[in-house]
Amino acid sequence: MTSRRPRLGVMGGTFDPIHHGHLVAASEAAARFELDEVVFVPTGRPTFKQHQRVSPAEHRYLMTVIATASNPRFTVSRVDVDRPGLTYTVDTLRELREARPGTDLYFITGADAIEQILTWKDADELWKMAHFVAVSRPGHRLSAEGLPPGVVSMLEVPALAISSTDCRRRAEAGQPVWYLVPDGVVQHIAKYGLYRGQHDE
Ligand code: ATP
Ligand code: MG
Repeated sequence: MTSRRPRLGVMGGTFDPIHHGHLVAASEAAARFELDEVVFVPTGRPTFKQHQRVSPAEHRYLMTVIATASNPRFTVSRVDVDRPGLTYTVDTLRELREARPGTDLYFITGADAIEQILTWKDADELWKMAHFVAVSRPGHRLSAEGLPPGVVSMLEVPALAISSTDCRRRAEAGQPVWYLVPDGVVQHIAKYGLYRGQHDE
């Protein structure tokens, strides 16, 4: 009997903070593509958010660990947090591939991120390193327009109109983020006073 190659989902994000939209996207992709594991990879310094305030990587990493702890198939990687300089997905995938030879990678992104993917560093390299899964996201059209055929699969997931930007604004305004983010993340935000007195965007 030939056993199939292990399948690793890769969920990249700033996760400032991680919310249920991220977790549902990862869970749905795992079910659809029979992924053995999904590794969440918080960015170091995000390329597209250079002019924006971003919480320290260690807080974003910890919130991601807290949010994923209860799922035996979810893990968190420090590869991007520990790599100096700006975060590029091509470097993330290269590192994960080297660490897991013989594993098929599935990079999971939302509809908004896939729209921009052609502008990412070494875009034509990306397709060789992983299969891409683009999940639906409220307010964004899910489309593979302009992308090479067969490199991206589209996946409709339950619509959660949650964004980290909105969670930050709520935390700053003293409004609840309960049920938008996992309970432990609500508590982490309160414990360290994240997003207080912050006027982003
Ligand atoms: P921000 O508002 O700070 O940009 P965000 O909510 O977009 O935060 P990111 O960390 O930027 O979260 O996103 C990481 C990945 O998760 C991206 O691929 C994004 O498209 C996807 N994603 C985020 N929120 C959702 C959601 N509600 N539904 C589906 N995908 C999502
Ligand atoms: Mg975003």
